[in-house]
Order: sequence, then C-alpha cells, then structure tokens
Amino acid sequence: MDRDLIVALDFPSGDQALDFLDHFTDPIFVKVGMELFYKEGPRIVEEIKKRGHKVFLDLKFHDIPNTVLGALRSTLDLDVDMVNLHIPAGAKAIRACKDLLEEEGKDTLLLGVTILTSMEEEDLKDLQIQGSLKDVVKAYGGLGLRAGLGGLVCSAQEVEDLKKDLGDFVAVTPGIRPSQYGADDQKRVMTPKDARRAGSDYIVVGRPIRQAADPVASYKAMREEFLREDL
Ligand code: C5P
Repeated sequence: MDRDLIVALDFPSGDQALDFLDHFTDPIFVKVGMELFYKEGPRIVEEIKKRGHKVFLDLKFHDIPNTVLGALRSTLDLDVDMVNLHIPAGAKAIRACKDLLEEEGKDTLLLGVTILTSMEEEDLKDLQIQGSLKDVVKAYGGLGLRAGLGGLVCSAQEVEDLKKDLGDFVAVTPGIRPSQYGADDQKRVMTPKDARRAGSDYIVVGRPIRQAADPVASYKAMREEFLREDL
C-alpha cells in the first residue's frame, strides 16, 4: 500500500460530509467513523465510493468473536479499503476477521486499534491496566499482528519503537497536528513531517482540515508535508 493522508469525515450528517467532499476535485482517502455511519448507515459509504474516494471504515469493532465477525460480514459488500477492530476483542476475533476477508477474496486491510491516542498513562491506571502505555501498546500490537492484522492504528509517537520491536506493518496514525495548531482532546500528537520520519504509512487528520478556513488548502499542505521526503 502507498502512503497517504486520510481525512476523518467526522460530520453529523451525510449532507455535510458530501458538501465537504464537493470541495475536492480529485478523489481522496477518507475515514468514515461512528458519528457519520451511525447516522447515515452503509448508503453514505456507497455514495462516497461512487464518487471515487477511498474509504477507511473506522467502526472499531469490539465484541465477542462471533458478533465482530457478523459486523464485518454486514459491511463486506461495501468493499472498503480499510476496516478495524479493537485489539482487546482478542486473537480469536482477529483471526476470524482475517479468515473471512481471505475466504471472500477481499483485499481490505484489517487494522487493529492498540490504545486510543486520546489516552494517557493515567487513563490506563484508572482502568487497572498494568504496565506502561508503551509496553501495553507493544503487547497489544504484537498480539494483533500475530493473529493476522495487516496493520495497526496507533500514535505516531509509538511507530518507530513498534516497527523496531514487532517488524514491519502498515502504521495508521491519528493525532496529527500542524505545529501551529492545538492538540484538541488528543494527547499523543505529532506533525505530518515527524510522523513520516517516525515511519507512519498513513496519517489520519480530522479537525485541522475540517475546521480550517480553507479545508482543501489545509489538506494539500499537510499531505505534501507528509509525503515529501526532502522536508
Ligand atoms: O480531529 P482529529 O484529527 O483528532 O481526528 C482523529 C480521528 O482519528 C478521529 O476520527 C478519531 O475517531 C480517530 N482515532 C483516534 N485515535 C485512535 C483511533 C482513531 O483519534 N486510536
């Protein structure tokens, strides 16, 4: 897979998402998450794909293996480019998803979420999860990749160490901010350039593009910063 910037379409309605996409003349890579999907359902993904855009369906499945598998099966016809689940759903759920994608001949990239980029060390303690954030991310990542994930959703700050420890995988990293922009509710943030240097394959960017005065200009600037090797 190539490297790219994925725009998080966290809009409350399909009309707003499609109005936003109308600003882009060429197809882009977008992420459809819970906010938009739960409002509009699979039709919005079909509509976005009809316009030629690539789609990462970010529903972060987390349930017993049979239900996770059912959820994946229900979205299979959408032929999205990426789909994901929470790694704590377990190795059985991950393996079942991988097998289904293979059986159905889909080249959808199966991603696992390690620890949300909004979480800090303190949040893990509150959840009684033992170990440092770094160790927990590594343990979850290793388990997920061994069970058959094609890649991990993690913080760009973790990618370099993870690739050293776990070998190569497709790293998809949210929590990306231009240097002059605040962090919002994200805790472990990085600029596009630093994310590339750290080994991110895909960066996911939401608010810094959606809330920009000129979203297309912001998209182009951040994408170029991410893709250009000489920066
Ligand atoms: O607006 P912002 O750039 O923070 O958006 C980041 C996107 O990435 C959101 O859609 C969020 O749901 C998603 N995400 C994340 N951390 C993860 C997985 C997904 O922020 N670990």
